[in-house]
Amino acid sequence: MEICKWCNKSGIFLQITSNGLCNRCNQAIVFNVNQKGQKLIDLFKELETYYDIENAISIFKDILNNAKILLQYENKRIKTIDPPPSDIIRRYTYKKNYFMGLLNDNFKIYSGFYSRVAGITHENDDGSSRQDIIRTCSIGDQLFMQPSPFGKFKNATKLFTKDGKQIGWLTERVAGEFFNLLNDNKYKFYIEITEITGGYSDKPNLGCNIRFTCFKKKLNPENLIANIKEEIKTDKKTYLERCKEYYSEYLEVAQKLFPEYYKSLNDNSYNLYISKAIEFKKNQQFKEEKEILEKAVVNDSDSPYAYERLATILAENKEYKEAYKICKKWFDSIYWKIPNMAATSLQILLLMEELDSKIKNQKQ
Ligand SMILES: [Zn+2]
Repeated sequence: MEICKWCNKSGIFLQITSNGLCNRCNQAIVFNVNQKGQKLIDLFKELETYYDIENAISIFKDILNNAKILLQYENKRIKTIDPPPSDIIRRYTYKKNYFMGLLNDNFKIYSGFYSRVAGITHENDDGSSRQDIIRTCSIGDQLFMQPSPFGKFKNATKLFTKDGKQIGWLTERVAGEFFNLLNDNKYKFYIEITEITGGYSDKPNLGCNIRFTCFKKKLNPENLIANIKEEIKTDKKTYLERCKEYYSEYLEVAQKLFPEYYKSLNDNSYNLYISKAIEFKKNQQFKEEKEILEKAVVNDSDSPYAYERLATILAENKEYKEAYKICKKWFDSIYWKIPNMAATSLQILLLMEELDSKIKNQKQ
């Protein structure tokens, strides 16, 4: 005697579909499975471009809610989707918890992009085949890193599965960019497999594409404004370095602290002087270049380039005191504190330190 897997109705004359359901249940459940399945596909798509941790968590929650509806069918051995809802729930519960941990620890997304695993056809030192290991991996699997420099590859970083099997390396470009941050506890990383490629006659070797996300700990907002004020007063170098490192946070504070600086900024200086100075430099018209830079500085240009370049020219002519004065003028202006100029301001500051010691040496 046939029994409907869902409503348990049974009877000799009951028609049961290939899904093991009575007609009425079949219609409703097939509809629901298709609808939730499509919704899940849309959510996975949305997840490809999540922009912050909160956004990712809200997508994870939507995925879990939809998968849980399908889980009740899976639990009654009714055909649903592939991968099965229980698998989706296990994976995304883990991800949701991991990302919530990051949020609670005050991390934000610092960098995220797609890349691939390098060296996938090589064998591991223990003789195991990376191709065999990739064959056991699935989309969504998390990978782990271990810095392992060797020979001339100073940034070489191994990639492992969660059970510690090496499937390859970070590409040289990615490793070069992040190697110095791997053991810095201000940064955390989440790498997951997004695609396994190849495995067919034209391209028998398996490849592995990944999504690489780097998270960075946010500054404690509590004392941030007071700390920044103190840095500006007593430690320009630290201030400028942190402007570069924590650009968005420092920018936000600077906009609050010095609104008048932002109002007085304009692009006149660039049009009047800087663009011409750059042109003169390119054409090797050094006399004209110097003259227009001097004009920019005399007229209190808000562009650090004018000060940095003029001071460099003067320093090359061994006019250290003059060069020092130009640098100092930048730091007497109201503009040096503005975070988007921090990189050049920092160069001017370092030049100033250099000039200071040269001036002292000249005196001796
Ligand atoms: Zn039924």
